Amino acid sequence: MIKDNLEKVRGNIFHACERAGRKAEDVTLIAVSKTKPLEDLREAYEAGARDFGENKVQELVDKIPEMPTDVRWHMIGHLQRNKVKYIVDKVYMIHGVDSLRLAEEISKEAVKHEVVVRILMEVNVAEEESKFGITVADAPKLAEEIAKLPGVSLQGLMTIAPYVENPEENREIFAKLRQLAVDISRKNIDNISMNVLSMGMTGDYQVAIEEGATCVRVGTGIFGERNYQI
Ligand SMILES: *Cc1c(COP(=O)(O)O)cnc(C)c1O
Repeated sequence: MIKDNLEKVRGNIFHACERAGRKAEDVTLIAVSKTKPLEDLREAYEAGARDFGENKVQELVDKIPEMPTDVRWHMIGHLQRNKVKYIVDKVYMIHGVDSLRLAEEISKEAVKHEVVVRILMEVNVAEEESKFGITVADAPKLAEEIAKLPGVSLQGLMTIAPYVENPEENREIFAKLRQLAVDISRKNIDNISMNVLSMGMTGDYQVAIEEGATCVRVGTGIFGERNYQI
């Protein structure tokens, strides 16, 4: 079932890329495996998934040693500063950097562990009160500050769009994030790039790809509904 779901999602990605005149290999599918048991992750791995997304530090550090070493782990959830040290040398990318203090902590731990960590700035494009993330207005300044930090490599932007019935409603959000990346790129800040746009989930990843997403984070569409009771 997971294999079939993955194939379906890959097909949708391919077609969304076609519509947008983009190459499918320019979009990374992150299999969001939070709350799911290892057997599900292994099934996805067998079906070719190599990028996995988790949103809790404890779950991430429990799962990492149980999976093959060529998995790229993406921390996609809100990250508390006191937990950075547990994951800094284990993850491929941290998607939710939303403050200078968090970036500084990642930098400090990265230097200590002698690694360079890829990070994305989380932008709350819709300015929803319930969500983490900086505002569009604050993003360029934060990018400039992060650029000065050793041990972190700012690669682009991430957003969690509002929950909507019709994914078209989020098109403008995705377009705004892409425009913000363009605006920040134009500042030619040393040591950073704006090549990664992490946007789009099960309900709206096809629209996100049409608007330029380079990473889509799909959970339910691959693994089925999550059961938070377990
Ligand atoms: C859970 C989660 C997803 C995946 O959500 P689905 O709707 O199940 O695809 C994507 N991004 C983040 C940040 C998440 O926490």
